[in-house]
Amino acid sequence: MSIVLSLLSEESLDENNEFRPLLKPEFGGIVYSFGSVTVPYEKLRVSEKKGLLKSRGFTSFSICPECESLNLRTELACPDCKSRGIVKSDLMIHYECQNTGPIEEFQSNIRNGYFCQKCRKELKRVGIDYGNPGIGFKCSNCEKVFQFPLVLSQCDANHVSKIDELELKAFPNYVVSKTAKGLSTLLIDTHVLQDLLGKNSIKSQILCQLRGASGANHVVPMLLTAPDRQEIAIEFIHGESQSELEQAMFQLLLKSADLTQIKKMLVILEGDGSIDKFAGVANPLKIKIIASKDPRILYEQILKEAVQ
Ligand SMILES: [Zn+2]
Ligand SMILES: [Zn+2]
Ligand SMILES: [Zn+2]
Repeated sequence: MSIVLSLLSEESLDENNEFRPLLKPEFGGIVYSFGSVTVPYEKLRVSEKKGLLKSRGFTSFSICPECESLNLRTELACPDCKSRGIVKSDLMIHYECQNTGPIEEFQSNIRNGYFCQKCRKELKRVGIDYGNPGIGFKCSNCEKVFQFPLVLSQCDANHVSKIDELELKAFPNYVVSKTAKGLSTLLIDTHVLQDLLGKNSIKSQILCQLRGASGANHVVPMLLTAPDRQEIAIEFIHGESQSELEQAMFQLLLKSADLTQIKKMLVILEGDGSIDKFAGVANPLKIKIIASKDPRILYEQILKEAVQ
């Protein structure tokens, strides 16, 4: 049972739910969060190949240009000497001598008010003697005062890069595919069905990837192998509206025509409203339509078709 399927079975998934990559170094890098479950990207790639997940857009992460590490820290440094010995502070400027520095440097223990250490004058009137240009930085190494520090990125292997030197790596945003949704909302319990089939020497596989005559890959939700080695695919059609059902049936007809090695395809419909309509368009030797809201009836019918 794939991870995603087991997640789906306990998760009520919204049609438009998008799963975006998250950086979680404690989980080893990029992960996706499905409710309370966290799944690493590598595992989801397998689900994507099986057709359970589809990528819809992507999210880029910055990586170290030297080692591609995703674990980056932002560091601020002096733009002149690159020292990391900088302090952030409210700045103050003495207009007369243009001395600029952190406000603390203008405070005096002995005198009241502000005092310029450079020209040793008292600063009394804000806007006339002195001003407050805002937040800035001062380098303790070269004494430079600046508003915009050099922004550096350091990876966990201690490679230091400027922000514009970083590379990007994209990871897909995922949505759950129709195949997975179909499986997750099955009327039947795959374990019960597989048990029953097994007792009758019929092998079954969940989510099988098969190559069609056209070269296209198709995912079959369930593939049965009868004792005579004939393969039978089980498909599920879900649809709210008539046009959705017709569209789904049309896709299945194309898929069935491409999968020439499949002896028979069993199509399970929710309810039995449209069974006659589809029976009319599908070749009854190749596509057999089963419909019931009762899982036990479905099990029996599937078994009957498989042992025929
Ligand atoms: Zn690095
Ligand atoms: Zn001064
Ligand atoms: Zn400096």
